[in-house]
Amino acid sequence: MSAVVPGLPLVLDLDGRDVLVVGGGPVAAAKARQLLAVGARVTMVAPHFDEASHFDVASDLAGLPGQAVHAAGRPTARATLNGLPRLVITATDDEDVTAAVAADAAAARVFHNAADRPEHCSATLMALHRRGDVTVAVSTGGRSPAAAGWLRDRLAATIDAGAERAVRVAAVARDRIRAAGRSSEGLAWRNLLDEAAGLDGGRVAEADDAAADLADRFVRRALSGDAHSSPGGAHGSPDGDRAGRVQLVGAGPGDPGLLTVAAVAALRWADVVVHDALVGDGVLALIPKGTELIDVGKRPGRPVPQEAIGALLVLLARNGRRVVRLKGGDPYVFGRGGEEALALAAAGVAYDVVPGVSAALAAPALAGVPVTQRGLAAAVTVITGHRALSQPPVDWEAAARLGGTLVVLMGVAERAAIAAALQRGGLHPDTPVAVIERASRADQRVLRTRLRSVGDLLVEAPATLVIGEVAALDLRSAGGASSGASAIEGATTELCAAVG
Ligand code: SAH
Repeated sequence: MSAVVPGLPLVLDLDGRDVLVVGGGPVAAAKARQLLAVGARVTMVAPHFDEASHFDVASDLAGLPGQAVHAAGRPTARATLNGLPRLVITATDDEDVTAAVAADAAAARVFHNAADRPEHCSATLMALHRRGDVTVAVSTGGRSPAAAGWLRDRLAATIDAGAERAVRVAAVARDRIRAAGRSSEGLAWRNLLDEAAGLDGGRVAEADDAAADLADRFVRRALSGDAHSSPGGAHGSPDGDRAGRVQLVGAGPGDPGLLTVAAVAALRWADVVVHDALVGDGVLALIPKGTELIDVGKRPGRPVPQEAIGALLVLLARNGRRVVRLKGGDPYVFGRGGEEALALAAAGVAYDVVPGVSAALAAPALAGVPVTQRGLAAAVTVITGHRALSQPPVDWEAAARLGGTLVVLMGVAERAAIAAALQRGGLHPDTPVAVIERASRADQRVLRTRLRSVGDLLVEAPATLVIGEVAALDLRSAGGASSGASAIEGATTELCAAVG
């Protein structure tokens, strides 16, 4: 069988079992050490044993549970498989030896691994990381050991002290529940694991004690038949309470790199995510498989009524679900998150808010526009351009007299009327305007114009309008933006002229 066939990863119990290692160099010695460390009985066969391998049975292997035997001689004969080892590992430069041993092993129906020769392997080794009871193993089917090791290290970083503690207490709890003759299935294990992993605020010993207490309560509830609440249960309730919880989470403007660490943690914690249309695909891709996704995207012509969303959140939480309400930008900036919070509070459902990076600030920044700048803008005002949602209505003529920068969200449709009202209020028709479409997405577009021409500009939602002197600036670095230093200089010169 070729090594690039995905195969089935297994953990082999080699304790006390025979393994043959063919080869006498440093690679063979390293394999032998790995095998001996898991208790295998290793026979090494090679014409000679390389001094450079520093492989010495007496000293190197003292204290290891397995045992090793050297056998000098050319290991091509079927005799090498005498006694039929469970596994054969070949680590030699001799292509003929590798091929012959592979053939012998295949004939004897013994699994064979050849270092760096995937075409001769019926078994491949994986890049390993062990911490406590957890083993992370990464395979590329033998195609790139370097890549496997690299990925193993990245995954290993996620298995921190909290994760190790969580696994330990869950294992102990499972043993106790099964020892009492009860089923360990269908319990709110994820709640226990989340809670035990998250106890890192205190010192390790305290966290360990607290985790042991949690597990103890979990076991007592399980034995009283009370811990079945799958899926869900309140966050921080390993007892499996039916009361769920909602997190109102800001997803930022679209690029997953602009999520907060708390938002990423919430997406992992959730068992259901209720999201808007504006949430970026890259953000949705971070939600673990198996998490239920509900799209309540308010698409034109097919709006999901706000009350229906509030009612849905309440219903999910009352069913014991761990709910993330994922909204573009910041949940409380024109996201109607405030209304959802009120609906949850009125229903007595526990909730938290995880603030997000709002398009109101991110879109200008990503277009190279600082919303405040010494000498140019001492204030920034964020206004909705959505007529129906602006209750009470915005007094645009008053806004024109505020000075500083105006940032308008949901203003694409009404942009001409907004610009006219601002001019009536005294804002100069030449006031610079920047329009940022789809900020932070791969197809972000920045348009620049003057207040008098805003209505003529072709703009596609979602877009953020920035009105004020700063809108002429483009502080993006020459290397990272479409416009170079000269454009910045030009804009600044123009600005100085306009201001001066
Ligand atoms: N809560 C969101 C805003 C919701 S209102 C936040 O804090 O960002 C929706 C409006 O936000 C859109 O009409 C548009 O004006 C703006 N917006 C959202 N995402 C955007 C993006 N990626 N680029 C530009 N504007 C965006």
